[in-house]
Parts: sequence; C-alpha cells; structure tokens
Amino acid sequence: MTKPQHHEIVVIGAGICGATIASELLERGKAVCIIDAAASPATACSSHAYAIAHPHIGKGSPRLLRLTRIAFLLAEARWKNVWQQHGIFQPTKKDKVFDRAQTMEHLHYLDLDVDMAIAMDAKEAQRVCGIEQSGVWLPRGAGLNLYEASKQLLKNHERLTCVWNTHITRLEKGTKAWHLFDAQNEMVVSADKVVIACAMEAKPLMGSIDIRLPLRPVRGQLSIFSVQEGDPWAERLPSVGISGDGYCLPATRLEDGSYQWIVGSSFDEGEDDLVPRDESDDFNREQAKGLIAYEEGDTRSLVKAGEFVGVRCVAGDRLPIIGALTQRPGIFLATALGSRGILWSALAAKLITAQLLEDDFALLARLGFAADLVAALAPARFFAGALAAPSALGALASNSKPILPAESKAK
Ligand SMILES: Cc1cc2nc3c(=O)[nH]c(=O)nc-3n(C[C@H](O)[C@H](O)[C@H](O)COP(=O)(O)OP(=O)(O)OC[C@H]3O[C@@H](n4cnc5c(N)ncnc54)[C@H](O)[C@@H]3O)c2cc1C
Repeated sequence: MTKPQHHEIVVIGAGICGATIASELLERGKAVCIIDAAASPATACSSHAYAIAHPHIGKGSPRLLRLTRIAFLLAEARWKNVWQQHGIFQPTKKDKVFDRAQTMEHLHYLDLDVDMAIAMDAKEAQRVCGIEQSGVWLPRGAGLNLYEASKQLLKNHERLTCVWNTHITRLEKGTKAWHLFDAQNEMVVSADKVVIACAMEAKPLMGSIDIRLPLRPVRGQLSIFSVQEGDPWAERLPSVGISGDGYCLPATRLEDGSYQWIVGSSFDEGEDDLVPRDESDDFNREQAKGLIAYEEGDTRSLVKAGEFVGVRCVAGDRLPIIGALTQRPGIFLATALGSRGILWSALAAKLITAQLLEDDFALLARLGFAADLVAALAPARFFAGALAAPSALGALASNSKPILPAESKAK
C-alpha cells in the first residue's frame, strides 16, 4: 500500500476500541485512517471471543453504575446483529442476605426497569435461570466475540484506510498538524485529529508529548473447560451467563455429549505476560465452584480444553480514559477499558465522535450522559490543577481511589 500522507482523522489501534470509534466516524460520513502495529484487526486483548456485558448493579460508585447503564444501552444497540443475548445472573454476595425490597429499590434508583434487571429469590432464580441462588437476573445481558466484532467494524469501506504492520512510536506537533512517526523515526502520516486507542501503548505515545498517563497492565486468563456427559457437574452447568466472583458463559453441549464451559478470569495486577498458567486454570476452577454454588464439586472434572490470555489496560482509578486531551488540541484518548471492553468501546465511540466533530451531545444527554460523567472519564482528571477546576471536575476527588469495591476483582 502507498503510505497515506495527510488525513483529517487518524485512529491508532485496531482493537475493539479503535474499530468501534472508526466505524462510528465512518457512519457519520467522515473519512478515517486506522493504523495498527499488527497485520490485522483485534490481535491483542480484543482477540477475546468470550466477553460478556451487562449493566452493573453493585453498590459501588454511583457514577460508575450510571455509566455502565448508558454504555450497556449503546453497546446493545451497536452490536445487535452479533449480540449473543443469553441473559446474565448476578448472585447475591456470599456475605450478604438477600432482601428483595432493598434490591428492587436499588435497581429502581439505578433506573433499571424490569426488562433490564429483576430481583429474584433462590426459588424464582431456579425456575427462570436454573440457578438456585438469590440475586439479580439481567435478561438482556449478553456475550460478544470481540475479535469478530472488530473485524466486522473494519470491513472494507470507501472512506476507510487501514495501515497495518505499522507501530507508531511518537507524536509531534507540526505547524498545522500532528505528525506520527514509526520505530525508524520516519513520519508515517500527518493528521488534524488523532485518536489514541492503543491500550497500554497509549502510555509511551503520550509520553512522547509530555503527557503522563497512570496506566498499568492486568493480566487475565480465561479457561475453557470440558465436562464429560454424566459427570455430577454436567447437571449443574448453567444455561445462562453468571457474573459474580468471576464470570462464566452458558455451557454448550458438544456433539460427543460433553460440555464446553468458559470460566474466567484471573486478575494478575501489574503483569503482562501471555504465557498460559496452570495456576490460573486452578483459580478459575475455584471460581467455577463459587459461581454455581457447588462448593463440594470435584474440580478435577473441569478438564482444561483451552484458554484465552490477555492483558487488560487499567487506569489508576479503574475508570476508562475517554475524551479530548484539552492540553494537546487535536488529540483524543480512548484507553484503559479494563475488563469492560464492550461497554466502554461503545461509549467511547459516541463520546469521542461527539467531541471530535464538535457535535451537540443530544443523544448522550438523552441517555443521561451528564457533565459529571464526561468529566469522570476525561483525561484531564489526572493532571495537576484538574481537581481545582470548578463544577463537575470538583466531584472527582472521590474517584481517586480504585472504584468497584462492591464487585469482584476477578473478571
Ligand atoms: C481475561 C480477560 C477477560 C475479559 N473479559 C471481558 C468481558 O467479559 N467483557 C468485556 O467487555 N471485556 C472483557 N475484557 C476486556 C477486553 O478484552 C478489553 O477491554 C478490550 O479488548 C480492550 O480493547 P482495546 O481496543 O482498548 O485494546 P486492544 O485490543 O489491546 O487493542 C489495541 C490495539 O492497538 C495496537 N497498538 C498498540 N500499540 C500500537 C502502536 N504504538 N502503534 C500502532 N498500533 C498499536 C495493537 O496492535 C492492538 O491491535 C477481558 C479481558 C481479559 C484479559
């Protein structure tokens, strides 16, 4: 391919995040150039074929819960053709007593109607989902193959230029545009607007323009287990997804009568190697018992049949970093999607497009996307002085600690 010279919009990174943003921009009539270090889309964390999505209902930060509801609605609308809606059950935490009235009040407060979330005692859950545990049934919860979704989003389009095998190592502000350089220090393209959607690599790239991002890797391994027909586990395997301490997909019956069951995942803070580990599978076996409340189950019946290992990119406060980098006009960030690639990429596509095209925020506002939420995601929250700013940014002080206390760390 002849190397492109100048583009109005360049997106760096063709994982689910960059692909979704590029696709939204194409839908809005813009021309987009997407650049990736690999030879095709979704080769890194977005090679994940077994991701799940649901609105979050834990008792964590209200801002996070509001954001996941909006993001879930956007994701569902975006991927409806490839959305594998199987429903997801979220069991009551082991140390909590189920209180229907209180749970319903909480769901109501989160603006989750009964078509999105229903409190159930163990009997109802057994009848509806086949799971004898109290909790919340999320009937619209779904799975998405991130690899297939990313590929679909980047299929041929007359206004889309894909530049593969090109690792961008630094940015530089020219007189009129941003210049993007590769490892040989050759300028690859110039662009008016650059969207940085390359996960952990956003850190060195931003470092090249003196912006320090608090990103760190979190390795995760998901296990694909095989369960033999007639094994005591077989009759307990779920037909819906479960999200609690870890998560699992509905089990699928294979032609030979055995079952395939996907359970995840480990959460190895600060680690980034992709080598599969036996100990991560053992960790997932223990999570499997907890998810279906089968503590007495013999984990040797969960025979390893495969795995997915990926490295999540996580920000210091556990929220994604999405928005215009106001300190460097023309640069937009969409990174730190953590364990919520589906939700945050759907949200990033709308928010980045609105900011990049300087749209009004009508759609996002209609969905409840208020100024405090934009500020909670904005890159500016990490920079000196940001907290001193008035209005919505002031509220960020409470976000300086890791969020999601009410949820399991392992996802
Ligand atoms: C075990 C595990 C389980 C998970 N489960 C779920 C789940 O159930 N639900 C969910 O929603 N999410 C889940 N996730 C998270 C999800 O997989 C990620 O959030 C998502 O894939 C991140 O997408 P991304 O596009 O930001 O990054 P990536 O997919 O990592 O893409 C980044 C892209 O940028 C390219 N790149 C990097 N640096 C450069 C550079 N300098 N120049 C050019 N290109 C570059 C890379 O080649 C890559 O293609 C899970 C993750 C793991 C590890």
